[in-house]
Amino acid sequence: MCEFCHQHGEGRKWYLRAENYSEDLLSDLRRRRVVQDFLRDPGHISRGMEGLEKLRRAPSFVRWVISPFIINRQKKSHYGQVVPIEEVERILGFVNSVVRLPCICRQAMTGTEQRYCYGVSMVPQEESGLFRIARETGGEWLAGPDTGGLEALSREEALASFRELEKKALCHTVWTFASPFIGGICNCDRSDCAAMRATVTAGLPFMFRAEYVAGVDPGLCNGCRQCMRVCQFGAMGYSIAHEKVIIDPRRCYGCGICRSVCTRDAIRLADRASVPLAQGVW
Ligand code: SF4
Ligand code: SF4
Repeated sequence: MCEFCHQHGEGRKWYLRAENYSEDLLSDLRRRRVVQDFLRDPGHISRGMEGLEKLRRAPSFVRWVISPFIINRQKKSHYGQVVPIEEVERILGFVNSVVRLPCICRQAMTGTEQRYCYGVSMVPQEESGLFRIARETGGEWLAGPDTGGLEALSREEALASFRELEKKALCHTVWTFASPFIGGICNCDRSDCAAMRATVTAGLPFMFRAEYVAGVDPGLCNGCRQCMRVCQFGAMGYSIAHEKVIIDPRRCYGCGICRSVCTRDAIRLADRASVPLAQGVW
């Protein structure tokens, strides 16, 4: 399990702990401020990328010294993890509301509003102290957050939309807004997502890999290479000798996008922990 699971998941995947979506958010105004500050200024994404570009060009010693500070700071404020579609489905299964939001990276790049991100939230669990206090004080918010003015979606609508985006080879990622609160699920690709680009091309990880790794069943693969077209992480290769695709588990982020385009059902995701070459690679 990744570092966040150990810190915030108490034996489970951190993004599946419903408590992290509700009481922590409701009881911590600091997290709301992080969300507000993040959304208020899309320009910080492009300024951030300029800074990253400078860092990428800096001597390796400077990068080696500075990078851990940047990454640690990022983990406390806004950090992501790749998730396959079944994990998105599990998250949507227990949140109370889903709203579709403009993608701040794409807005910073194009100056136009493009809705690829989904805000999720959840009210406190019934047995929790906060729930009891709210009920006693008549807290209307127990019905869920006010989504007025936002594009609210049902779970089914949201999931259908994620499946459509997967067909376009977009990779699902969950994001914290001040750990361990999970504020949103995005749909990223390397050309548009600043965090994914920094992670994959600049050696500055702003997201963990998924808790999974993909593998190809050579008995089913016919070597059509459709899956290679959609892998954003350069994890796939083609064996001329065998006329099959192979996946390097040390490079695979476990997004499952390759699986969604394989008409032979030849690609499976396995728990990262069960794949020796990948289990310590985040
Ligand atoms: S899409 Fe499926 S059948 Fe085609 S190369 Fe990839 S794994 Fe093999
Ligand atoms: S090999 Fe498949 S699961 Fe792994 S990173 Fe590439 S597209 Fe994602």
